[in-house]
Amino acid sequence: MLFCIVMESLEIVPMRAADLDEVMKIERLCFPSPWSRAFFSQQQRSPAFENFLARGKDGGRKRILGYICLLPVGGEVHILNVAVHPQFRRKGIATRLIDFSLDYCLTKGIREALLEVRRSNHQAQEMYKKLGFKEIGIERAYYSDNREDAIKMCREIERRPKFIADAMLGKLARWLRILGYDTTYFAKKADGDLIRIAKEQERIVLTRDTRLIKREDLGEFFFIQNNSHWKQLQEAYQGIELKVDPRFLLSRCLICNAEIERVAKESVRGKVPEYVFKTQERFFSCPDCQRIYWGATHRTNILQEIGQILGVKDLS
Ligand SMILES: [Zn+2]
Repeated sequence: MLFCIVMESLEIVPMRAADLDEVMKIERLCFPSPWSRAFFSQQQRSPAFENFLARGKDGGRKRILGYICLLPVGGEVHILNVAVHPQFRRKGIATRLIDFSLDYCLTKGIREALLEVRRSNHQAQEMYKKLGFKEIGIERAYYSDNREDAIKMCREIERRPKFIADAMLGKLARWLRILGYDTTYFAKKADGDLIRIAKEQERIVLTRDTRLIKREDLGEFFFIQNNSHWKQLQEAYQGIELKVDPRFLLSRCLICNAEIERVAKESVRGKVPEYVFKTQERFFSCPDCQRIYWGATHRTNILQEIGQILGVKDLS
């Protein structure tokens, strides 16, 4: 499927002057009042701006799928522009661009992200809310083309640890995904590969393997002592200071770890049991394995269980 090919090959790289022809095509397709080429060129020449683009394979050819334009100022980053080619929308590309940018900003010591979005652009507002942005005010008649108001949004940028769990910790990996932590797990993987992946992707190794923790090349790790996965979760919760943040709960595919995305109800017709289709309104899909998620009841049960295990109250 084209969808999978695109996501697998997706790379995020700095925007170059040579990319501007393709960028301008997307800019004109996306916005009623597109930025001019001269404005993009000016940004390319100025060290103040940081622009990145997402590139992926469409058939055999690499093409630009979207881009993001950033203006870091002091401890803040202003997200000036996020655009995804209309053909490649709803595939998580904007989310990947924003996640990448926030991670990048974190490495520069930036702790807050700000943006403006048109009052009429509900889809973008929803996406930003899902990414943890909160509305902080309204700028009247901000857009010069139609004097539309802008909703101002902001988000704190915090570092959330990423993990790689060894073969003995499959259930713990699943719980960490439920909490929304990016957790890679392989039922079988040689120690050397595990260590290499952990280093390449800056993941903390979670392990019960006493042999593995003796290896000198092992980077950051957390040794799990308990056998029961409930106790393992408690151990990790206390030892690594995990957070139960409702914003991230049940935000990942439990099978493959990808971030799941809200999909239109109509798009899951025939793919879920009829009873489920009739009784549920909110559906999510995994961009990697296409598994569909739903279910307020399921969510309530899981949150109750987490609450019990970790002694956290008022999860909703
Ligand atoms: Zn999946």
